Amino acid sequence: MSAKQFPPARPPATLGVMGGGQLGRMFAHAAQAMGFKVAVLDPARDSPAGQAADRLIVAGYSDAAGLADLASACAAITTEFENVPADSLAWLGERSFVAPSAQCVSVAQDRIAEKRFFVDCAPSSGVMPAPHKTIATSEDIDAIPDDLLPGILKTVRMGYDGKGQVRVKTRADVRAAFAEMQGVTCLLEKMLPLAYEVSVLTARGADGESVVYPIAENVHRDGILFTTTVPGPNVSSACAAMAQDAARAIVSQLGYVGVLCIEFFVLDDGTLVVNEMAPRPHNSGHYTIDACVTSQFAQQVRAMARLPLGDVRQHSPAVMLNILGDIWFDGDSDTAREPAWEQVLALPGACLHLYGKEQARRGRKMGHLTLVAPTLAEAQVKLRSACQILAIEEDA
Ligand code: ATP
Ligand code: MG
Repeated sequence: MSAKQFPPARPPATLGVMGGGQLGRMFAHAAQAMGFKVAVLDPARDSPAGQAADRLIVAGYSDAAGLADLASACAAITTEFENVPADSLAWLGERSFVAPSAQCVSVAQDRIAEKRFFVDCAPSSGVMPAPHKTIATSEDIDAIPDDLLPGILKTVRMGYDGKGQVRVKTRADVRAAFAEMQGVTCLLEKMLPLAYEVSVLTARGADGESVVYPIAENVHRDGILFTTTVPGPNVSSACAAMAQDAARAIVSQLGYVGVLCIEFFVLDDGTLVVNEMAPRPHNSGHYTIDACVTSQFAQQVRAMARLPLGDVRQHSPAVMLNILGDIWFDGDSDTAREPAWEQVLALPGACLHLYGKEQARRGRKMGHLTLVAPTLAEAQVKLRSACQILAIEEDA
């Protein structure tokens, strides 16, 4: 049966998600709000999405029995984890409606395929990725052109939150870093002078209609997203239009169905550079839950169920602050205690989201806080107050 022959999903059908993390949890909440049931497949017995699911299938991402179970239970299936094996999605796609497709996910999983796609797409998107070179052998290191250094060596697969990345200045650094990564294929990217970073969230339906959310400005700390601010204080309307047009071109050239987030760099001279894309809702889109008519998770539900896409209008300026496990600990103490949520929630416009992770660990994403207000300036004041309450240094 081709994908088109699967009937669209309507409540109270079951929607499936590969992966049990926080993105799956927020997806489940959105799907259930619309009357769907949710099945989650994850190897762990306890997971953020597993806790919210109507049905949990505890199985590996390539486990034949688990996948068969998911396919037979679900009217449509999506993923919340971009490193789920594309073969598993392809197998599911023969048996149920899967969005995004295995093919689209496989491009986003592989930095080389992703860069190639961005280059191919440049005539219509108007943006190029950073100059780069594949590093698979020691000869590749010899052949690095001088102007690619200093750079960042990134593993081709499985990178997230800055993991699998090493900053390198010289060929000798590349050699050492490549050896550290035990010979897995890498991509060397030229280190660019970033003025700031933005992301654009888009969604496209099976009918080819697409929507583009307002552009979001992102600040990272230690390789992990720290805050997302929308509207972005640095973003000009010309830059926003350029990034949104690029996102539209990219999602359509991919033939993508579902929610796709595209990350961009804005350089000191104003040039827009496309960095990477995530074939799912994205951390920088969490603000949409509290600040937009249709959240990125509700949009994911609509796209996979082949319902009309929702209004992406932002009704409140917003700042999203990621909440990492660090704030469960005082100084160097290793005894965890719960942060002062009652003080945070006393701030008008504070929306707290916690992911149900039992153990707080430094660097672990435990939740996020969105601060909404009638003006951006007010939302930023609330961010400062929240950071103070939670003992988070705002300007590190
Ligand atoms: P995530 O999954 O959190 O988005 P990731 O591990 O997939 O991250 P990237 O998005 O490629 O990795 O890089 C993480 C961060 O490192 C970027 O947001 C940016 O701040 C910085 N960075 C990455 N590539 C470059 C570059 N070529 N020049 C300058 N800074 C870069
Ligand atoms: Mg990134």
